[in-house]
Amino acid sequence: MRALVKARPEEGLWMETRPVPEIGPDDVLIRVNKTGICGTDVHIWNWDEWAAKTVPVPLVTGHEFAGEIVEMGRDVEGLELGQRVSGEGHLIGKTSRQSRAGKFHLDPATRGIGVNEQGAFAEYLRLPAFNVVPLPDAVDDEIGAILDPLGNAVHTALSFDLVGEDVLVTGAGPIGIMAAAVARHVGARHVVITDVNPARLALAEQVADVVPVNVAEEDLGDVVARLKMKQGFDVGLEMSGNQRALDQMVESLVMGGRIALLGIPPGKSPVDWSRIVFKAITIKGVYGREIFETWYKMLAMLENGLDVRRVITHRFNAADFEAGFAEMRGGASGKVVLDWR
Ligand code: NAD
Ligand code: ZN
Repeated sequence: MRALVKARPEEGLWMETRPVPEIGPDDVLIRVNKTGICGTDVHIWNWDEWAAKTVPVPLVTGHEFAGEIVEMGRDVEGLELGQRVSGEGHLIGKTSRQSRAGKFHLDPATRGIGVNEQGAFAEYLRLPAFNVVPLPDAVDDEIGAILDPLGNAVHTALSFDLVGEDVLVTGAGPIGIMAAAVARHVGARHVVITDVNPARLALAEQVADVVPVNVAEEDLGDVVARLKMKQGFDVGLEMSGNQRALDQMVESLVMGGRIALLGIPPGKSPVDWSRIVFKAITIKGVYGREIFETWYKMLAMLENGLDVRRVITHRFNAADFEAGFAEMRGGASGKVVLDWR
């Protein structure tokens, strides 16, 4: 089969011929139709410090996918050949206290496909049946291929009650934009999204009913006044990984405000803790998706009016992966989807 492989410990990815994976009794084999390129894949392409210490070489990359089941292990139940599926790319352990309590997303032994284990940028993917998520008819394969990042957005946005609340999303990358769309969908009042990249803010406006703010040009305090909020935002969703964005978020939140942090800062970063204490702010770190509650909520919302399709700005044949990665590395695109058929 064709697969996009991190074949050598240096910049780049290479399309290679690999054997179709063999499945065990609890696995399924998925024929991959579409995949999404993630910021993580760009780190792996670039072979930065994180990638070099995390990713074993050689490795089939990629973790955002949709496809159909073409083979099932002996012990697999409840799935069917030909079924359209996506799936959770975090492979969890089953022995930790968290797993045994059903909090699968908090298992400390989690391993990621396309990061630690063979991934989805290939014609075929082996996945434990436990991780498979069947797709309803309303969710086609290209949306199926971006459920992993949409799941990050949904997990973060649903961390706190947003009904009637004023919500600040910092960072209009694909995940921030989708989180803003979710906040709108579940009934937030004002949804403000910030970035310093005008192309990203323009895309946010196309995807969701949001107030875009370029924080390189406009002060968030002015936005709070313009929108006639009493003190500031009720909830902040941090989706940039940028220290200044977090500072601005803390500054513009109400007393007792709540923050969900998804963005990953590049290293240790200073925080003015006294402001967080005196404002009585609650901060929640968010990792991945809640397995499998996020998947349930996300599919239910997609079947009932949540529309994030316009966050997909580029579609390429898998053979043209270099063009897809060039768009991602350019920093102005939304999601880039590769077609493997
Ligand atoms: P992205 O890099 O495409 O988007 C980040 C955006 O933040 C960019 O558009 C950038 O211009 C913007 N930005 C930079 N400085 C800013 C500032 N001062 N104020 C506002 N915006 C600013 O990333 P993405 O793929 O959308 O992912 C969002 C974040 O979530 C990233 O940090 C990523 O590493 C992280 N992430 C975390 C998890 C997790 O499980 N916690 C999973 C996936 C992604
Ligand atoms: Zn991803």
